[in-house]
Amino acid sequence: MNFKKSHIIIAIDGPSGTGKSTTAKIIAKDLNLTYLDTGAMYRAITFAALEEGITPDDKIGMDQLLKSTRIRFDEKNQILINGILREKEIRGKEVSQMVSPYSAIPEVRSVLTEWQREIGNEQSCILDGRDIGTVVFPNADFKFFLITDLKVRAQRRFLECQEKGIEMSLEDIEKNLTERDRIDSSRATAPLRKADDAVEIDTTQLSIQEQVKKIEDRVSVVA
Ligand code: C5P
Repeated sequence: MNFKKSHIIIAIDGPSGTGKSTTAKIIAKDLNLTYLDTGAMYRAITFAALEEGITPDDKIGMDQLLKSTRIRFDEKNQILINGILREKEIRGKEVSQMVSPYSAIPEVRSVLTEWQREIGNEQSCILDGRDIGTVVFPNADFKFFLITDLKVRAQRRFLECQEKGIEMSLEDIEKNLTERDRIDSSRATAPLRKADDAVEIDTTQLSIQEQVKKIEDRVSVVA
């Protein structure tokens, strides 16, 4: 790796369970970049809406919620919603089941996209999500799109949930991933899609270390 550029953006997109966030966290550490988990932002808004009983079709309620909800990351990259640590809650079953319908709302996307751009413009970042290379940072220096067989993704997510003490069966997780992929790929605004200039990596047979290496090998910037 040969870094001469002072500001870089790395975009990692793909469906859930492809290893985006684990990979991005390691690369952020290795390359001294800020890691931005954009999925956590969508999960946070979903959690806040569910708590307030605001449904995705309640436009006025959602507009108010977007104005009044304060989301931020602490120094450990854990999410705080209106000052309260909600890292575990945003990863739970309820939020996982409802996050895609809320993420399809154009106003939600516009507010969160703006925030992601502000953070990325201030510092070098690696961001993972669904629309980073296509919409949030279409001029990102490096773009990757991860894909993985569904069964493997479900198994990975299942182990992750077990580690975090989140109760979800393997069957529920597989159904949830399939449904989220369907909604995320078919929404009108910023659907899950590979950017034309993104490098696709199939992680089905790869360990996390191998995924990290494949990406880091390509990230060489000569200004
Ligand atoms: O990455 P994660 O699985 O936590 O994302 C949760 C959900 O947030 C996705 O299924 C998708 O609906 C939404 N999302 C999005 N755009 C992003 C990141 C996440 O729509 N950039």
